[in-house]
Amino acid sequence: MMAGMTVADSAGPDLVACPTCDALHRVGSVPLGARGRCSRCGTVLAAPRAGAMTRIVMLAATSLVLMVAAVFFPFLEISAGGMTRKSSVLDAALAFSDGLTLPLTLAVAAFIIVLPALRLGLIIYALAPMALGWHPARRAVPAFRLAESLRPWAMAEIFVIGVAVALVKVGGLATLHFGVAFWAFVLLVLVNVLNDNFMCRLTIWRTLEQRSRS
Ligand SMILES: [Zn+2]
Repeated sequence: MMAGMTVADSAGPDLVACPTCDALHRVGSVPLGARGRCSRCGTVLAAPRAGAMTRIVMLAATSLVLMVAAVFFPFLEISAGGMTRKSSVLDAALAFSDGLTLPLTLAVAAFIIVLPALRLGLIIYALAPMALGWHPARRAVPAFRLAESLRPWAMAEIFVIGVAVALVKVGGLATLHFGVAFWAFVLLVLVNVLNDNFMCRLTIWRTLEQRSRS
């Protein structure tokens, strides 16, 4: 594939390695709505869909709004012995902000807030102009490549699971209520899973490269 190809290591034009089993395929043009599958293990390699760009951009924008809610609204309300405390994710991160635990604060902030937000922003930047049928933004290719490389590092999902596990342990000691932010996080995870399934990376790269050159 062309310079921006990251779906797999490319060995030539349109040659794509299956992400699951590494079998090499020559992926020609897959018609809209069809699926190109790996001949060995059946993993979907290409699944171009009409209007996919628009949906990806809309879902990324939705995620970004949800992230703002998730960070600033109360995440948890804890009641024990007549005392009630509300706390947001930002409060939780800042609680570790002195001395030796400062690196922990920075890591938490980076993995659950900064990197996911940056990734969503880059996706919108790279794909929104194309969703509208315009010429891609300047440096859309490196922007989308960066968004793709950030994918394993955006850990909002893991954070939600971690919080859920911790709450099961605290549940016996205090009364807990989930705040708006918790549900925003849950929605965020669902929207992200939806978006990842929707994104046919091969098609996006091809479209990006074609339109960037023209
Ligand atoms: Zn395969």
